Amino acid sequence: MTVAPSNAPALDITCTTCGADVVVQAGLRTTECPYCGSPHVVERPPHEDRPDPTFVVAFTVDHAAAQGIVKRWIGNRGPFVQAGIKRAVVEGTRGVYVPSYLYGARAHARYSASIGENYTVTVTYTTTDSKGNTVVRTRTEVRTEWRSLSGVYDANVMDVLVTASRGLGNAELEAVEPFDLRLLQCYTPDLLAGWIAEEASIAPEDCVKMAQGETRAGIERELQGFMPGDSSTSLQTKISLRDEVAHLALLPVWIFVLRYAEDKDPIRILINGQSGKVAGNVPFSAVRIALAVILFLGLAAGLMLVLGVFA
Ligand SMILES: [Zn+2]
Repeated sequence: MTVAPSNAPALDITCTTCGADVVVQAGLRTTECPYCGSPHVVERPPHEDRPDPTFVVAFTVDHAAAQGIVKRWIGNRGPFVQAGIKRAVVEGTRGVYVPSYLYGARAHARYSASIGENYTVTVTYTTTDSKGNTVVRTRTEVRTEWRSLSGVYDANVMDVLVTASRGLGNAELEAVEPFDLRLLQCYTPDLLAGWIAEEASIAPEDCVKMAQGETRAGIERELQGFMPGDSSTSLQTKISLRDEVAHLALLPVWIFVLRYAEDKDPIRILINGQSGKVAGNVPFSAVRIALAVILFLGLAAGLMLVLGVFA
């Protein structure tokens, strides 16, 4: 993959902390990993045999907009976040084209399950009334009749995205999905001008395995949703996937690395560079939560005391 103008060779670096393989354009030279903020990056020789991506989702959120989104997001984190977070220095603010695989397949599922249908019965029983007499009464009870159900289900799956980056896990990518794949463009090197792009650092076959797992889980969820009756149990599925396709696609993600305390790992906030959707894990302060609990208990005790006095 060539992303730089011919007179300015790109720098290929590997992060020894998180494993991301990043291509940095000459004009954007960085000595820190854009994924994790680690300064432990090593230059690696450019590979000639890496495949070009097939598709790119272009950035539409610019740097200033991304910074505004992060500021608002941090501001809205509530009172329990660590004190340092709200005045933390945003260290790395990088727009990165994250490699991913766009996977599709035709899925064929055989399934079986137990379907429960509820019905009501009138039950007669004897009891003792308030005067000590034995009386016969009736009540309605709900019963469930179980029957087995099996069938086949076919689906065309075409938009499963999985990460191909060691620097950005699948769960993190999912947190900023969806991307509007109708705006997918065919890859051309000039689409990446001015941005950092990562090379796929997870093997294609491992990405495909992840995508197959996601596809199977999605179909099981769908089948679960289709089950008739009032309840169902023991859903068994056997899913086969064929006509599989997997294309390398670059996804636009703003990565903010936030260092809020010297002795803590920096936290990472991600923004979908197409939609502006933001995600990140902000550590909560145990001290602040404990203080709030103590305050609450104190108020509750005070209230009981007051109620006790007037009772
Ligand atoms: Zn890194």
